[in-house]
Amino acid sequence: MAGAFWCVVEDDRRGRPKRVTAELIGEARRRAGELGAGVEALWLTDRAEEEGLGQLAGWGADRIWLVEGPALAPYRGEVWVPVLAELAQKEAPRAIWGAVTSRHRELMARLAARLGVGLAADCVGFALEDGQLVAARPVYAGKLLSRVRWRGQPWLATLRPNVFKPADEGPAREPRVERPAVSVPPGAATLVERREETQTGLPELTEADIVVSGGRGLKGPENFVILEELAKVIGAAVGASRAAVDAGWRPHRFQIGQTGRTISPKLYIGCGISGAIQHLAGMRTSKVIVAVNKDPEAPIFKVADYGIVGDLFEVVPLMTEEFKRVLHGE
Ligand SMILES: Cc1cc2nc3c(=O)[nH]c(=O)nc-3n(C[C@H](O)[C@H](O)[C@H](O)COP(=O)(O)OP(=O)(O)OC[C@H]3O[C@@H](n4cnc5c(N)ncnc54)[C@H](O)[C@@H]3O)c2cc1C
Repeated sequence: MAGAFWCVVEDDRRGRPKRVTAELIGEARRRAGELGAGVEALWLTDRAEEEGLGQLAGWGADRIWLVEGPALAPYRGEVWVPVLAELAQKEAPRAIWGAVTSRHRELMARLAARLGVGLAADCVGFALEDGQLVAARPVYAGKLLSRVRWRGQPWLATLRPNVFKPADEGPAREPRVERPAVSVPPGAATLVERREETQTGLPELTEADIVVSGGRGLKGPENFVILEELAKVIGAAVGASRAAVDAGWRPHRFQIGQTGRTISPKLYIGCGISGAIQHLAGMRTSKVIVAVNKDPEAPIFKVADYGIVGDLFEVVPLMTEEFKRVLHGE
């Protein structure tokens, strides 16, 4: 449908859309509704499960553009971008939205360059003014919100996970699936030869409702077990500051901040983290911030809703015990 809002599906690489896709569709429905426009999902994948298609329809996608093929996995910009650009040029959507995830960040920037339009990255809010979309995005490490307008269309944007209200799971609907005839270019390079999934038993960092994060104050990689124990009890993901990552205590994919992941959980618990501005850039939109630090002057206390001045090696195990008792009656 010309003039529709397109949401690029972020999936779990096993044929199912991730929760952030429901957030994209939820916000697109609200904005598109004001303009009387449709909302469509755009899924590039090597396999789409029927259940996943049903989920997209249930979240409110009026139509699903499905491009399926082995060349589409793993993600490669030089394969995905021409496909999306060709489709966008044919169908003329009003907006194309992706999520703030590693692959969508790259994809949307390349797509913007290919289409010659602007991209508002890392958006945390939208409004319509005189029929034009206006985006809000944090700048200066989250200290200010800038308002962004596009000169032309489509309005390209990436949306920060955990910020927008997800679409409600509606009654199961028969998905309206369109398999467009587009040429999928062969990938010029093999970037990933093998992919192994590590099972931590903990939720994924950018999707988690609760994140427990550790910094240099943990003093060594072996001490992250203290945070993992707490995380297991409260169903949290474990993140880290750059100091902890640079020291080799955690892999980079767990880094929160300007040069790491951006998270917006319902609850963030920072332990032994000073709260440098580059760290805050990745977590200050968390709904509730708790800080554990032995230095009462640590800058993290300026953004914290609850601060505990104390030694994390004493405080965190006590929190774990207390949560076990309160949540699980142990
Ligand atoms: C361009 C650029 C990009 C950057 N990107 C990022 C980024 O993405 N993410 C990021 O995190 N940083 C980033 N940084 C680094 C950032 O400036 C800080 O150096 C870093 O965040 C500090 O990490 P930290 O808080 O763990 O360590 P520190 O600043 O050393 O703080 C450790 C804290 O632990 C406390 N502590 C020590 N022992 C205990 C204890 N037993 N109990 C309780 N508290 C204790 C101390 O009081 C202190 O406040 C970036 C820097 C630059 C220049």
